[in-house]
Amino acid sequence: MSDIYVRLGVRRIINAYGTNTRLSGGLMAPDVLAAMAEASRACVEMHDLQAAASRAIATATGAEAGIVTGGAAAALLLGAAACMARLDPAAMNRLPDSAGLPNEFVVVRSQRNMYDRALRAAGGHVVEVGIPDRFSGPGVRDASAGEVAEAITDRTAAVFHLAGENAEPSLPDVVRVAHARGVPVLVDAAAQLPPAANLRRFIAEGADLVCFSGGKALGGPQASGILAGRRDLVASALVQMLDLDLPEAQFVAPAEFAALNQLRFLPHHGIGRAAKAGKEEIVGLIVALLRFAAEDPAARTARWTARLEALRAAVPGAVLVHDGAKPGLPLLELRLPDRAAAVRAEAALRARDPAVHLDASRIRRGVLAVNPIALDDDDLPLLAAVLKECCA
Ligand SMILES: *Cc1c(COP(=O)(O)O)cnc(C)c1O
Repeated sequence: MSDIYVRLGVRRIINAYGTNTRLSGGLMAPDVLAAMAEASRACVEMHDLQAAASRAIATATGAEAGIVTGGAAAALLLGAAACMARLDPAAMNRLPDSAGLPNEFVVVRSQRNMYDRALRAAGGHVVEVGIPDRFSGPGVRDASAGEVAEAITDRTAAVFHLAGENAEPSLPDVVRVAHARGVPVLVDAAAQLPPAANLRRFIAEGADLVCFSGGKALGGPQASGILAGRRDLVASALVQMLDLDLPEAQFVAPAEFAALNQLRFLPHHGIGRAAKAGKEEIVGLIVALLRFAAEDPAARTARWTARLEALRAAVPGAVLVHDGAKPGLPLLELRLPDRAAAVRAEAALRARDPAVHLDASRIRRGVLAVNPIALDDDDLPLLAAVLKECCA
């Protein structure tokens, strides 16, 4: 199955960490892969394919429109570009030079993260609000909706919101103050699946744009993502990604992106050119999204739990828990005597061939965890034996 990696001289890993980018994401179901192979054998016009993606994304998320991008970070970059340039082709042609445009993104300080670089890469400026002293210890508060409202000015392009169980203020509160000032809300929900209900939740709560990773729990191509939301903003994002190097009169936007027929002129390769998704990724993501949306969430959790049950017996004291931040995602925790023991076990596992990568996000507490999302069922017997040796 991994012959290609043998031929290339690349050591395979058993990915029990999760769908991390540096560990190559997860695995695709055979029908997703088959759809990608099929897509690779014929050519289409990319805006027609993105219109099909838009229909699938709209159905799955409840959004007016959607496009497939080269990842959630690419979707963030394009979403930020759309919030700044809107449907002004001159502005699109200028980005990332955003001088004179509304180019500020109001961000709650506790939600700053390494992916928000995408806002700046598009030409945006981050304006932080709030003192999150509930995290630093002395206080109990985070930013308030009032502080977000206070930071909105004529220069504001959007309010950025990092979705998460502990996000404060809540998305509905952020939407209320942003919309009162006529400003869109851009939501990073890249890793907020499961629960599957989150596909619709952020749009239902009023987000103008939301992005999801295609290569995480959705099970799509590693280098794919979704940008979903308001039709005018998604159309702006799309046109900033398309190759429009053609005589202007030839371009007729599909009905899903009809707003593009109103552009004063056609922009050139936009800021999103560096974030392109190919036809194979777009088709793969559509099929993965349909598959994810169709699977009963309880059945998905049961499928993941069965993998962990197959490992639990190997390590006495291993505990099946639920990831508090991701309802529906079970984890198998291996509780080692202390941090040093966990560090030693983790290093020993990574030194093997195939290397075994466990979720080490709680290693400070002496805990290593098995995340079932990116595991191959065929690897379970080997993984059980290895865990017995290293962690029992
Ligand atoms: C993973 C992640 C991203 C990036 O997603 P890609 O699809 O890998 O580009 C962005 N934001 C957050 C919060 C993430 O967890």
